[in-house]
Parts: sequence; structure tokens; C-alpha cells
Amino acid sequence: MPAVIGHDAKGKAPLLAPFSLMPEISVILPFHNESAGVHRLLHRLYPVLGQLGLSYEIICVDDGSTDNTFASLVHERQFDQRLKIVRFARNFGKETALTCGLHLAKGDAAITMDSDLQHPPEVIPELVKKWREGFEIVYAARANRETDGRLRRILSRAFYAVFRTIADVPMPEGAGDFCLIGRKAVDAINALPERNRFMKGLTAWVGFKQGTVPFEVASRENGHTHWSFFRLIRFAFDGLSAFSTLPLRIWTWCGAAVSFAAIAYALYLILDTLIYGVSVPGYASLMVGILFLGGLQLLSLGVIGEYMARIFTEVKARPLYFVSERVGFE
Ligand code: UDP
Ligand code: MG
Repeated sequence: MPAVIGHDAKGKAPLLAPFSLMPEISVILPFHNESAGVHRLLHRLYPVLGQLGLSYEIICVDDGSTDNTFASLVHERQFDQRLKIVRFARNFGKETALTCGLHLAKGDAAITMDSDLQHPPEVIPELVKKWREGFEIVYAARANRETDGRLRRILSRAFYAVFRTIADVPMPEGAGDFCLIGRKAVDAINALPERNRFMKGLTAWVGFKQGTVPFEVASRENGHTHWSFFRLIRFAFDGLSAFSTLPLRIWTWCGAAVSFAAIAYALYLILDTLIYGVSVPGYASLMVGILFLGGLQLLSLGVIGEYMARIFTEVKARPLYFVSERVGFE
């Protein structure tokens, strides 16, 4: 229903807004160099949103694109004034773009999705249906990973298996950044102060009733993925370190295990010497011991360093992003 924004001169008939001032659905789209797909995406989105019969806004976050993305988005506003555009001062990353979208969303529910049409807009009605059934957070869970390369598929599986085991956050299989988040959960996520915005984790962590709807991931229509191998690895550790301290604590156990092994080996050496006398050669075992322990120590130091770097980012408490332009916001 459109919002009532006043009454006529006699104070009787309500004046309705051309569209609701407080939208019911906020669609949040992060864009980084996606100009080639802007038009196609939005024109697939409009009919779907139109059929929902709910008022909506579309919040496009231009995450420091260096191509025509921003101009294309502004151009698209002629077709639908409910398009709102924020332009970041530089590339702050997808998680930050989603965070900004959630800050700005006014709807009773926010829907976050990729802007490269890998997340088909046609799934939105199913998300909304499930939300109406009482689920506060509804994930569109990918039923397949065929669109990813082999290595990425294996690594993703491994990451989620590890994450679920050690992170103590119930993240559904295949859940990603295509999801519907109800107002209560949006407010909860917005209240989380951390700078490391691993959105999938934060969404799962806030709780509320969470459900899933399966969907088939489409192939990217234009351009290419922004996730290099090393960026993915860093992202994975961002996620793990934000939701688990096990990588930090595990070294206590490793240290204990190595110490026990060393004691056992020392006992063996003492007995061996008592029974068979001194046998000098020990070069190989010495080298193995030194290298193994050296490696273990550097590894554990590295892990501590990773956590420290993240603590450093948090204590600096810099703003998450800077906006250089806003179009369509009151
Ligand atoms: N994206 C972004 N900022 C970035 C990188 C990506 O906003 O720094 C957006 C990108 O435009 C797309 C979504 O995040 O809409 C997913 O990116 P991509 O398709 O590269 O990731 P993949 O689908 O390969 O996981
Ligand atoms: Mg993609």
C-alpha cells in the first residue's frame, strides 16, 4: 500500500504518495565495474519487484568503480525514481558496500544480491514468501557450484566445513550474500561495531529465525570475478578470525603435543644409550626437529600476527567508508 502523506483540503480523502516513502522492501546491490550489466540487471529486477505488490527501493552502492557504472546507474533513474545511488570515494570492498546498503535501507526487509546477475532476481518472490511465513532471515542457498572453477569449489567446500566446525555459527550449506534480512535483523547487524564485515558470518551470528530457499547460480553475464586466489584466502581468514579464536588457541595444544613427543623421544634415547651405548649419528633427526619446530613457531607467530593486524584495524576505529555522491536520497 502506498503511504498516506496528507489529506485533501476538506481533510477527508487521504493523499497517497506516488510510492511509499517508507518502502517495504529494500534491494541492496553492490557494483564494482559492472557498467555492462547495469541495464540488464535492473530491467530484470523491475518486473519481479512490480509483481510482489510491495513498495520498494533499490539501493545501488557503486564501490569505487573505474568504469561507467555510476553514470549508467544515474541514467537508469529515468526508468524508476525508486533507484537510489551511493558512490564510494574509492573501492572499499563488497562487504563494506553491503554494510553501507544496510545502513541506508529503510524497508521492512532488505534483500542483498550480487549485481552480475549470478543471483537471479526471479528468486526474490520465494524469499519474500518465506519471510511472510515468519522467517526473519532467508538465505538463497546455491544448489550447485558449477559456475565456479574446480579449485575454488574445493576451497569453498573446505572453508565452509572448517568454518562450521570451529566457528560455532550455524551457517547453512550454500548460503551466501543473496538473502533477505528482516528489519529486526538489519537493525541487529547495523548495531555490530566491528570493521571486519564478514557479512555471511554476521548475518548468521545475529540469530533470529533463519530459513533457506534453494536456487541455481547463473554464470556471470559480463566482466569477470573480482576474487583472485589470494583475495579469497584473505577473505577466508577474515571470516575465520572474526568468528573463532581456535586458530590462536590451537598452538597451546600443538606445543603440548610436541613437548610430550620430545619427552618420549628423550626417554627412548636414554634407554637406547643405556642398552646399546652411544651412537653418534643424529644429523637427520636434529635437522628434522629444528626445521619442524622452526616452521611451527613461525606459523603460530604468523597466526598471532593475523589476529593482531585485525585488532589494529579495529582499534584505529576508522569510518568504514566514505561516500562521494548520493543520488535519490531525501
Ligand atoms: N563487488 C563489489 N566490490 C568489490 C568486488 C565486487 O561491490 O570490491 C561486487 C560485484 O560488483 C558483484 C558482487 O560484488 O556484484 C560479487 O562480485 P563477483 O561477481 O566478482 O564475485 P563472485 O561472484 O565471483 O563471488
Ligand atoms: Mg559474481
